[in-house]
Amino acid sequence: MRFDIVTLFPEFFITPLQVGLLGKAIEKGIANVQLTNPRDFTTDKHRRVDDEPYGGGAGMVMKPEPIFAAIESLPVLPHREVIFLSPQGQPMTQELFKDFAANTDQLVLLCGRYEGVDERVMNLVTREVSLGDFVLTGGEVPALALLDGVVRLLPGTVGKRESLQADSFEDGLLDYPHYTRPPVFRDYAVPEVLLSGNHAKIAQWRREQQIQRTRERRPDLWRDVNLEETDNGTRSTRSEASPGERQ
Ligand code: SAM
Repeated sequence: MRFDIVTLFPEFFITPLQVGLLGKAIEKGIANVQLTNPRDFTTDKHRRVDDEPYGGGAGMVMKPEPIFAAIESLPVLPHREVIFLSPQGQPMTQELFKDFAANTDQLVLLCGRYEGVDERVMNLVTREVSLGDFVLTGGEVPALALLDGVVRLLPGTVGKRESLQADSFEDGLLDYPHYTRPPVFRDYAVPEVLLSGNHAKIAQWRREQQIQRTRERRPDLWRDVNLEETDNGTRSTRSEASPGERQ
């Protein structure tokens, strides 16, 4: 899958693109990440990418011409989305990442700076996506979060696919707590059930933990969970209703 990050600060991405599973996925060719700097598409001698806002006010605005030129210089794959990272966009969720991983072959990630981009740039954008209800200095951190979350879901990035299935949000619930050796550390003991070797009991304990955590920490998620008894324990699914629709 191809990712084109359009940013005034390509150097921001150098280390993150080299380390961990993201670095390996790029090395293996699972993700092809290209960095494009709008400044390279300026035509004036000062290479200006920002200007004062029409109508006055504080701050500068990213000029449309270098952004249009940068995005128009990119190849266009059949299933492409052009995403503007913006606090005004739809929130990033695991569902959205799954949708991108399954249904797109190219994500163009446009990172804003200053007060944002000239609104006419939105003519190139298919979607605005937000990292959360707060304002950062630029779109690079959100772009990296989106890239990391989507690449993680691409086949071959994570060795064991089962580890993805047990993750938070997969079936509407948060993940259960994890422990490793030693069995006792500074008087803190690993729950006995995990040392019992009884797989059915372990599965039941983990499911109970998932339910308890989701209930306590994320009542908004818990509202949308449907629990079903099956031969192998409880199965949970997310309600189709969008959050907020259910009471
Ligand atoms: N004036 C803008 C507003 O209030 O909507 C905020 C501009 S912000 C200082 C500069 C850039 O950072 C934005 O254009 C956007 O690309 C990025 N940004 C800031 N917060 C973000 C968030 N929560 N999610 C995604 N991008 C964000």
